[in-house]
Amino acid sequence: MDSLSGPEYDLAIIGAGFSGSMVAINALAAAREPLKVVLINKSADFGRGIAYGTRCPSHLLNVPAARMSAFVDDPDDFYRWLEHHRALCEAFGVGAARKDQFIPRALFGQYVSELLERRASEVAPGTVLKKIVADVQDVQECTGGMRVWLDADESLRARKVVLAPGNFPPGDPPLRDRAIFRSRCYLGQPWLGQRMDRVRRAREVLILGTALTADDLVLAMREEGCETHHIHLLSRHGRGPQPHRPAPPYPAFLPAGAERPRTIRELFRRVRAEVRRAGREGIDWRPVLDSLRAATPELWQGLDLTNKRRFLRHARSWWEMHRHRVPPDVLEEIERLETAGTVIRHAGRIEGMRTIDAGDRVRVVYRTVAQETRELEVDLVVNCTGPESNYRKLDDPLIINLLARGLVHPDPLLLGLKVAPNGALENMAGNYSSTFYTLGSPRRGTLYETTAVPELRRQAQRLARELVHDLQPPVPARGVATFEI
Ligand SMILES: Cc1cc2nc3c(=O)[nH]c(=O)nc-3n(C[C@H](O)[C@H](O)[C@H](O)COP(=O)(O)OP(=O)(O)OC[C@H]3O[C@@H](n4cnc5c(N)ncnc54)[C@H](O)[C@@H]3O)c2cc1C
Repeated sequence: MDSLSGPEYDLAIIGAGFSGSMVAINALAAAREPLKVVLINKSADFGRGIAYGTRCPSHLLNVPAARMSAFVDDPDDFYRWLEHHRALCEAFGVGAARKDQFIPRALFGQYVSELLERRASEVAPGTVLKKIVADVQDVQECTGGMRVWLDADESLRARKVVLAPGNFPPGDPPLRDRAIFRSRCYLGQPWLGQRMDRVRRAREVLILGTALTADDLVLAMREEGCETHHIHLLSRHGRGPQPHRPAPPYPAFLPAGAERPRTIRELFRRVRAEVRRAGREGIDWRPVLDSLRAATPELWQGLDLTNKRRFLRHARSWWEMHRHRVPPDVLEEIERLETAGTVIRHAGRIEGMRTIDAGDRVRVVYRTVAQETRELEVDLVVNCTGPESNYRKLDDPLIINLLARGLVHPDPLLLGLKVAPNGALENMAGNYSSTFYTLGSPRRGTLYETTAVPELRRQAQRLARELVHDLQPPVPARGVATFEI
């Protein structure tokens, strides 16, 4: 029995990036009676999260404006917002926005935070959307719901809780000598904020990873006027993401239901054949791959664990590189810097990193595919290898506590947390919670495709409607038969 006091809410949402904010907005819209919602975020930047918290104009959305509406059933909402905010768009160098344009991410962040403000001010009497800035430390079950701990002394109670923590920082590379990770020559995560000072001072920088986040950092360094002489990019294959190219949608080509491919070999055989067929008709591979997107969760769920592991081992980096593409302007700028010799790509597996010059610099040793050993000496190494998805490795107090309480547990592939199809979290005993839910990245093990706005807005809408339905069950209409004992 929970005898502690504290404010009480119907719904508490932990994390106010796009996912958490859209659960709040959709829940307010679905409520038929007064509803008390609390949205808790580590920073005061509600609605932005990591992706849209950037203020850098060259950090562009990697999805065209036409597909970035926050609402499934109003696809033009973001585009209309851009049209109504011409002056702001001009300040970001956008001018009159086009539907196929890749807009600065900061503008999308402004759009979502304004939506949140507007919806919060339009609520019916008795309904509340409270925003709290706090780093949630723990959640525990209590009578009638869950207790959410904002710190050691302060807590609140909610009948339902949604965990929307987004992506976590990357894990450190698996090196035997780990002293470098505690040195001032290493930045363990790319989301810079105040850390940009350290990047600004460095003349030679090594970025671990060559995907979208690495490009993001290179662009931020240029924009911040860093006087870096060389920016080295290192990954196993050394290649960057593919560029977007506008094309009409391609029809779904894989059979549905029981006829779906059940092995990775068969799936890739069919995809390659379709790409070749499209190519013969002058159609680019991009729309062919994009046509798989809506079916990805079903395809993923149709594979057994062995085939999922096979995909992760052999095909994942190829898939990510082709699926998560960059706007052409971003690629052009990175290529320009490569031609100028500022950006230098390396392909290989990192073997060691050690500080030199009294801890001011770092020597990095890596091995190429041809098994040659190479060395680089730089002032700073920044880890942009992609978010850590193994929750057991996370150094996050909330996740550590949730695992210790057995309220959540990782999926077998260590891509996220075990969840029911509706997002209800599975506890250690194997039971789905009726009070604790999640969306976005933690659902990766179940859905695989669960990171971008087109997927998240749908998840947020469905989850919010289901939660409000549970919290405010519809009263059966008069005259309609109900169950009687
Ligand atoms: C750099 C980058 C660029 C991207 N660009 C695009 C794009 O152009 N288009 C697209 O569709 N998708 C893009 N994405 C995908 C992106 O992940 C989603 O679009 C979306 O922003 C994810 O939102 P989220 O709310 O799930 O996570 P996040 O945005 O990460 O938000 C999670 C929030 O939860 C908070 N939080 C976490 N733990 C706690 C805690 N214990 N207590 C309180 N608060 C907590 C965090 O502070 C954060 O504000 C991008 C992702 C990244 C990282």
